[in-house]
Amino acid sequence: MPRLKQFLVVTDLDATLLDSTYSWAAAEPALRQLRAQGVPVVLNSSKTLAEMEALATALDLNSPIVAENGGLVALPRGNGHMPGCLLDDSLAYSIDIRGLPRQTLLQAAHALRVGEGYRFKGFADWSTAELAELTGLSAKQAEASGNRLATEPILWEDTEVNRLHFAKALARQGIRMLRGGHFWHLMGDADKADGVQAVRAFYEAKAPETAWQVLALGDSANDTAMLEAADIAVVIPHAEGPRIDPKGVRVVHAPYPASAGWNAAILSILEAPGEPDTRGAL
Ligand SMILES: [Mg+2]
Repeated sequence: MPRLKQFLVVTDLDATLLDSTYSWAAAEPALRQLRAQGVPVVLNSSKTLAEMEALATALDLNSPIVAENGGLVALPRGNGHMPGCLLDDSLAYSIDIRGLPRQTLLQAAHALRVGEGYRFKGFADWSTAELAELTGLSAKQAEASGNRLATEPILWEDTEVNRLHFAKALARQGIRMLRGGHFWHLMGDADKADGVQAVRAFYEAKAPETAWQVLALGDSANDTAMLEAADIAVVIPHAEGPRIDPKGVRVVHAPYPASAGWNAAILSILEAPGEPDTRGAL
C-alpha cells in the first residue's frame, strides 16, 4: 500500500510571502487552498518569534515557526512536543534553540569587548526607544525585534582589522559573525535549512504513515540552503529576475515577485498531475 503523500510548505517572508507593503493578500487563494487540503505552512525567517507570532495568528497557522534564521524552532503549545524542547512558561510556544542561546553569544562578545577593548554596540546595549531610533521601527516593532533568543545584531565601531580578530575569537567558540544590511549578526551555526530538517522531523514523528514532501519558497541568498533541503524549491524572483539558483532539487520558478508569485507557484504545483493527493484522497 503506498504511503499517503502530503505537502509541507516552508516559506521565507520578506519578498517571498510578503510584498513590500508587508501584505500577503495576493497569496490568499493559494493559502485558502492549502488550508482546505490540510497542508501545514511553516514560516521560516530571520525575524524574531515575537515579530512572526502576529503573522502566524493572522494566517490562522498552528504549525511550528522557524525564527532568527534557523536559530530556533517554536512549536505552538497544544501541538505536541518536539524532542529537546526547552519549555518556557512565559511563552505560548515551546522553544528549541537550534543554534546558540543569545546569552552565550552575549557573554562571549562582551568578554572580548571588556578584555580586548573592541568597540561595538548591540541590541542588548540599547533601550527599546534607542533601538526604535536606530532602526526606524515603531516602539512596538522595536520591542518585538529586540526580543531575541538565538542571535545578536551589533554595530561595529572599530577597525576592520580588529573586526577580523574579533570574528576569529568568536569562531573559536562556535559563533558566526554575518553581515546583514545595517548590522552584523552574531549567531551559532544553525541556518534556515536546519529549520526545514526540524519541521520535517516533527511532522514525520507526528504522522509517520505520511510521505511528507517539503515545498520551500524563498527569494534570496540566505534561502538557498533552505530550498536545497526541500523536495521542491520555489524560487521567487525580484523585478529584475531570480537572485538564487538552488541545486539538487526540483526547482520551480515563480512567474512574479513576492506574494503574487507565491500564489501562482503554489496553485500550479497543487494542480499539477502526479502531485501528492490531498489528505484522505487515497
Ligand atoms: Mg526574503
